[in-house]
Amino acid sequence: MSERPRVAFVGLGRMGLPMAGNLLAAGYPVTGSDLSEAARSALAEAGGTAEADPLRAVDGADVVVLMLPDSRVVDALLFDTGVLGALPSGTLVVDMSSSEPEATRRIAELAAEGGVAYVDAPVSGGVSGARAGSLTIVAGGTDADVERARPLLEVLGSRVLHVGPAGAGDAVKALNNLLSATHLLVTSEAMLVARRFGLDVGQVLDAVNTSSGRSGSTEKKWPDFIVPETYDSGFGLRLMVKDMGIAVALAESTGVPTPLSHDALALWRRAADDLPEDADHTEIARWLSGQNSTDE
Ligand code: NAD
Repeated sequence: MSERPRVAFVGLGRMGLPMAGNLLAAGYPVTGSDLSEAARSALAEAGGTAEADPLRAVDGADVVVLMLPDSRVVDALLFDTGVLGALPSGTLVVDMSSSEPEATRRIAELAAEGGVAYVDAPVSGGVSGARAGSLTIVAGGTDADVERARPLLEVLGSRVLHVGPAGAGDAVKALNNLLSATHLLVTSEAMLVARRFGLDVGQVLDAVNTSSGRSGSTEKKWPDFIVPETYDSGFGLRLMVKDMGIAVALAESTGVPTPLSHDALALWRRAADDLPEDADHTEIARWLSGQNSTDE
């Protein structure tokens, strides 16, 4: 019998499936659940056990990992479907979705009443980082709960940072994505100006990447997904807009004025209105290039 804790993994999407695969490769017994039958089959092919019913997936689990789209879905699973109420005292829940800090705090309090430990541990590093097990993971929770989750998290990521109590990981993650989204927007504006001015975008990126204007957008997103026009980073545009909304709501709750963040979010929301449901977030550059300057 394996000495590893038994893991229930709910949410086997672009991120969750490779993460669950890494846990299996590290010797964790994983039972996964997802609405998608294709995702469940893929987990079974990777050596896991798949259950359509999340209540069956969590039955007997020591640790429940969630990698779901947002807090609304996490809430529905835990409360409407009844997963939280079904967990025995002593279970650890690790929500690795990019969720809302306040919602997470509330869930962590309710979980504690039933003796269930709750850690938020959202990730950065994209689908490639999920596959490679090289994610950056920002965890929120008590010292004891985060230390309990750490061995599992270290399989999934190369940096595991405990950043505060429940909800702190979600706050850091949302602020990171606010920065990332705003960088991508202004990088896209700058590169479109460069192109219209007759410059070679590859040369401009090369120069910027050893200069003070560099960011993940100039080092990775533009060269890897936008210049080759593949727009296939694997991170959906709507998920990015969701994360920016969380960050701006957090800003409002603190009373800090964030006019640039509001404007950036408004632009991303306009792009979301115009683009298909499943658009990749790097499509923001193509959307921007199609905007008529007289519209502004
Ligand atoms: P995704 O849409 O590819 O996967 C989400 C999965 O959840 C899908 O397979 C879907 O079928 C499943 N799901 C939805 N509702 C469910 C339910 N009620 N029960 C069971 N399964 C359900 O999304 P993703 O890109 O894997 O992102 C997951 C989370 O990770 C999000 O919070 C996202 O913001 C965050 N994130 C994504 C990336 C990325 O590059 N894709 C990077 C960092 C963080």
